[in-house]
Order: sequence, then C-alpha cells, then structure tokens
Amino acid sequence: VNIREAVPLKDHTTFKIGGPARFFTAVTSKEEAVEALAFAREKEIPFYIVGKGSNLLFDDSGFPGLVICNGIGGMKIEGDRVWAGAGYSFSLLGVQTARSALSGLEFASGIPGSVGGAVYMNAGAGSFETKDSLVSVEFIDSAGKTHLYSKEELVFRYRYSSFHEMKGLITSATFALTPDPQARLKQLQLVNYRTKTQPYSDPSAGCIFCNPPGESAGRLIEQCGLKGLRIGGAEVSTLHGNFIVNREGATASDVLDLVEEIKRVVKEKTGHELHMEVRRV
Ligand SMILES: Cc1cc2nc3c(=O)[nH]c(=O)nc-3n(C[C@H](O)[C@H](O)[C@H](O)COP(=O)(O)OP(=O)(O)OC[C@H]3O[C@@H](n4cnc5c(N)ncnc54)[C@H](O)[C@@H]3O)c2cc1C
Repeated sequence: VNIREAVPLKDHTTFKIGGPARFFTAVTSKEEAVEALAFAREKEIPFYIVGKGSNLLFDDSGFPGLVICNGIGGMKIEGDRVWAGAGYSFSLLGVQTARSALSGLEFASGIPGSVGGAVYMNAGAGSFETKDSLVSVEFIDSAGKTHLYSKEELVFRYRYSSFHEMKGLITSATFALTPDPQARLKQLQLVNYRTKTQPYSDPSAGCIFCNPPGESAGRLIEQCGLKGLRIGGAEVSTLHGNFIVNREGATASDVLDLVEEIKRVVKEKTGHELHMEVRRV
C-alpha cells in the first residue's frame, strides 16, 4: 500500500475540519487493508478507519498514527440478498435496492456515508436502522485475521454497534431485503423529506447529538432559541437545530466550544443531557 505522511484530514471529512494524519493510506481491497494494519502493528502506532468521513470530528492537531481510508467497493444483488463492500456508498445502495423493488434500505438514500460506516454507527432514519435488514458482517481484526459475524453475534443499539469495542476494519456486509413494488416510491419520498429538512449544501457531520430517549435533540435546541448561534466558524444550522455547519474555516475547537454551549443551555432550560453522536477523534 502507498503510505503518505502529513495528510490533512479536513480533506477526508464532510465537516472539512481536522489537522494532519501522521500517516495516511487509502485501501481498495482486503489485501491492502491487511497490509495497512500490518504497517500500524510494525510501527507500533495507533490506527483509525475512515469511511466517507461523514460522522467524524478530527482534532485540529490531527491524528498521531495511521489513518486508513476504506474504499473497498463492489455490490451484488442476488434475489432478496444484497452484498456490498464496506466502502460502497450507503446512499447509492439505498437507491439501487429500491430501484430493484427491494425494501429495507430505502432510508439509506441521502445518508452520505459508506456501508462500513453505516454498520459501525448503526445508521438510521425515522424508525429504520441499518441492523434491521443486516444478515452478516465481514471484519479484519488488527492482527489481520478475517472474521464473519452473523447479526446475532453482534450488539446493535441506537447509533451503536459492537464494533465500537473492536479494533479492525469492516470489509463487507450482507443484507436480506423484502420484495416490494413500492420500494422506489418510499425511497423517493424519504429523500425528498430529507433534502427539505436538512442542510445539505453546508459542510457538516449530520446530527451532532443523539436524540435523548423519546425526545428530539433538534427540537430541544430550537426550543432553547439556539438556531443560528455561532462560535468562530461553527454555526447551529438555521434549518435543522441538531446540525452544526462549518460556515467559514471552522476549527474543531470552534465546534467543541459550540457543543459545550448548546449542552449547557439545553440542560439549564430543559433538564435534558445531550451526548454527541458525531465521533470525536
Ligand atoms: C448531511 C448528513 C446527513 C446525515 N444523515 C444521517 C442520518 O439520517 N442517519 C444517520 O444515522 N446518520 C446520518 N449522518 C451521519 C453519517 O452519514 C452516518 O453516521 C454514516 O453511517 C457514517 O458513515 P461514514 O462512512 O461516513 O463513516 P465515518 O464518518 O468515516 O466513520 C464513522 C465511524 O465509523 C467507523 N468506520 C467507518 N468505516 C469503517 C469500517 N469499514 N470499518 C470499521 N470502522 C469503520 C469510523 O472509525 C468512525 O468511528 C449524516 C451525515 C451528514 C453529513
């Protein structure tokens, strides 16, 4: 694999924030992933996997080890089973399965992540989650060994999977969908709603906070009058209260200062404790 040094991480996240990775590599096959993991092991440095970087906030100081950007692609539909490489676009997977009249991943269309990132985060929208149609996940651990996990061997909760506790790289996932002639229509309705209610043109990392049980973080933030609040280049979206957008050269510390301010006001005015959904590295 081609290992580069001092690569700016702002170029690999949708937030457009983050200092340099000491080492950086992009992998497009399992063999390359094994080699990249071996490099980190031999050098005794930490590694971090990035998919499409749509749920990440890297520090302004960057990352002191190896960042592995996963681009293992490929997608195959066989009957109602769908296999996808972890670097495949989750949004495209949602569109293509719906076009094939298969239901279960319509909600994925418009989520700008990779299949691996969606599995890791158990991405979801409305009442749908990635785990719902998931069958199995292939994973390479930090020692380079391949594992095939069935869904039942893994734990999934709201924006959480067992992979948060594991060190390695998801290489592919298999889903079981349901034949449904209405799938394409449902997918189009979902994506239409999404583009009306979420700021798509400004750099962000999607929802910044998890929804507290039975509540909407966006609604609480709006109730507290925080939409439009700005610190440095980071601003609470005027369209969706749970999005922080990078208005103009925001730094990670601008975002974190804004996060702390939102948490403080929301706690004071509503009693709710907000927790970040975006992964801070
Ligand atoms: C405009 C916008 C809208 C969004 N809407 C939604 C939404 O509706 N619902 C939702 O759930 N999320 C949403 N998100 C957040 C984000 O798109 C999802 O969390 C997505 O699943 C992240 O995928 P990714 O490939 O970008 O992961 P990254 O951001 O690159 O990584 C996220 C985490 O997953 C890990 N990871 C990624 N790939 C792998 C892999 N192959 N192996 C091991 N670990 C891996 C990373 O280490 C990191 O901890 C939105 C984001 C944006 C910018």
